[in-house]
Amino acid sequence: METVMVTTRIVVVEDEPAIRRGVVDLLRASGYNVAEAADGLRGQEEAQRDGIDLVLLDLLLPKKAGLDVLAGLRKLKPTLPVIILTARGTEDDRVRGLKMGADDYVVKPFSARELLARVEAVLRRSRPPSREAVSKPTGARFGRAVIDFSRREIRWSEHERGELSETESAILSFLVAHRQRAVSREELLSGIWGIEPEGLETRTVDMHVARLRTKLRDPSGRATGEGILTVRGHGYMAGPDLVAVEGVAAGRAS
Ligand code: CA
Repeated sequence: METVMVTTRIVVVEDEPAIRRGVVDLLRASGYNVAEAADGLRGQEEAQRDGIDLVLLDLLLPKKAGLDVLAGLRKLKPTLPVIILTARGTEDDRVRGLKMGADDYVVKPFSARELLARVEAVLRRSRPPSREAVSKPTGARFGRAVIDFSRREIRWSEHERGELSETESAILSFLVAHRQRAVSREELLSGIWGIEPEGLETRTVDMHVARLRTKLRDPSGRATGEGILTVRGHGYMAGPDLVAVEGVAAGRAS
């Protein structure tokens, strides 16, 4: 399987060296890519760079106040997640920060666990489903059939083969990649067609799935189990008999 690696980049803006060091070390130890700044001007510069996923922003900073940095960022990058690091007794600033579009705040002194939990929660909220890090399967097995997603082919034996359309192959691969949960029709629409669900009939998905189920039937008439389950009122899910396999692209039928 090919794993999509997502490196999350965080900027820490904090003038107190001990706190900054602690936060930076903690985030790095947790696998984040971290840049740091000890004043507001430098902080704004770092936060404006491309590819930044989150900013941890102290409010009382030399050279440029945290709230001014936040205001500047909101103009340039309206959706960039920002968590305010604030001292006790500065409730007014905290409220102003949230009103100005900060995503959350953490009150100093905070524990490592609390900070990481806030960071993870804000990152989770800010990520569209398509950026979820999942393993993309190269193929799947269903009963005696081997499905090759890149060739868009179902093989029951050397002489029994079927073809999948690009969309059918994408739907099947998406369901296999997210096999631990149900996938809604809307998510399939945005994940596969790359469009917002509004404006497209979710019935389109049902039609493709119906065709897929027909194509998954064993030509010999043998029972194959359940390939795609319908989750009432929600969408679809890979059945227990549809499993991801590796190395299918090498073209071996077993
Ligand atoms: Ca400070």
